[in-house]
Amino acid sequence: MRINLPEKVLFIIKKLQQAGYDAYAVGGCVRDVVLGREPQDWDITTSAKPERVKEIFRRAGGGDSRMTCASEDEAPHGKGGFRLFSRCYTIDTGIQHGTVTVMLDHEGFEVTTYRIDGEYEDARHPKSVVFTADLLEDLKRRDFTINAMAYNDETGFVDAFDGLGDLERGVIRCVGKAEDRFGEDALRMLRAVRFAAQLGFELDPDTRAAITPLAGNLSKISAERIQTELVRLLTSPHPEEMRAVYETGMADVILPEFSRMMRTPQHNPHHCGSVGEHTIRSLSEVPQERVLRLTMLFHDVAKPDCITQDEDGIDHFHGHPKLGAEMTGRILRRLKFDNDTITRVKALVRAHDDRPLPLTERNVRRAIYRNGEAQYPDLFAVKRADILAQSDYFKKEKLEYLEEYERIYRVIQEKEECLSLKDLAVTGSDLIEAGLTPGPEIGRVLNLMLQEVLDEPELNRREILLGRYRGNLYGEDA
Ligand code: ATP
Ligand code: MG
Repeated sequence: MRINLPEKVLFIIKKLQQAGYDAYAVGGCVRDVVLGREPQDWDITTSAKPERVKEIFRRAGGGDSRMTCASEDEAPHGKGGFRLFSRCYTIDTGIQHGTVTVMLDHEGFEVTTYRIDGEYEDARHPKSVVFTADLLEDLKRRDFTINAMAYNDETGFVDAFDGLGDLERGVIRCVGKAEDRFGEDALRMLRAVRFAAQLGFELDPDTRAAITPLAGNLSKISAERIQTELVRLLTSPHPEEMRAVYETGMADVILPEFSRMMRTPQHNPHHCGSVGEHTIRSLSEVPQERVLRLTMLFHDVAKPDCITQDEDGIDHFHGHPKLGAEMTGRILRRLKFDNDTITRVKALVRAHDDRPLPLTERNVRRAIYRNGEAQYPDLFAVKRADILAQSDYFKKEKLEYLEEYERIYRVIQEKEECLSLKDLAVTGSDLIEAGLTPGPEIGRVLNLMLQEVLDEPELNRREILLGRYRGNLYGEDA
């Protein structure tokens, strides 16, 4: 089998070969091309040491960054030839680990020297890395068989662990003994499930069985690295693999709140299955977008803490959106998410169960104000996924309600009605001009005006509102 390497990758491999070294495309990019997926990035592995790699590509640039890097006679297949690269230089990305980034016309390629990882410390990092001339040694240190293949046009595939077979069978399997590999680097356990979720693959039984006894080691992995894998899993085509994160015991370590949801049944006709099972279903029902998936993961996170049972044995979860938003904020901070993501997810969790009733334009305007304009239209996607993941009890009615809610929202949008202070026809300076002393009183009056305008949009005219102000309609006891 042959694969089509991009021109720049061919160029880098060719340059290294001409200097007397071996070089291959390796890892995720080889896997993705075989699967017919677009690789995120192209990694190259080579027998050349980092210093040599730097030299070769410095020379390729002729010492002058504007010089060309390749000419016709260096064409990899004898005809055609390389386009001229106007800029070529290297960056020391991880020089002590053997990685140099080769930049070709603003596109970066990581070129890493064949290496053997030394003893692992703390289930996290190798103590040292040793460079080697043996490609096989480099492939052995990689996590899964499907990620441990190398390819170049001259040799074809180097596939020592039957990665191609596992791609065919749809299996995530460790290179070597799973216990050892997970013992070296605990993050690999979460990566295994992440790849299963991205590719729709199964975990090989031995690989899966090795996780539970070692799951505790995930506590030694940095929150940032956990976050990265978790987000990739959640935004994949198979977010239901969160179930495997729970079943293997990993959730107990990285997301105990999710384990609790999995262990909380819901005796309520609107639901079928535990809080966790409902959550998993809802993940698949929402578009594959980071904030939406995170929102679904946490929308019911407080249910285990809010459970009450009525005399008929029905469970209720009063107050769970509000408490859930607070918990979500704490969890996302713990996982080192950025503030913008935290704000957005919290607001959506807080609003997920909010239902304007009856559905009138006035009530929808009030809901938009209450939940924050920024939560729309995302909130509809959240609410739809929530309903679709519930039992069939009143499902049709719930969906009809949501459709009507959205329709009214669109009408309001089209009319460009005022929904927040920034759209109010009167500003703080207007009030100062009208004689109000600067201070908290201004905010109070503006808010009263906004409440009126939400009820009656036609009042949102400067002269009307200021007229009402002068008529003392917003006095202290208003
Ligand atoms: P993606 O498409 O998500 O980037 P990837 O397979 O390229 O997936 P990377 O994290 O970019 O994953 O890593 C590149 C390659 O490095 C992997 O394919 C694998 O061969 C190796 N690798 C990455 N992380 C580990 C690890 N923790 N242990 C062993 N090998 C690893
Ligand atoms: Mg990658």
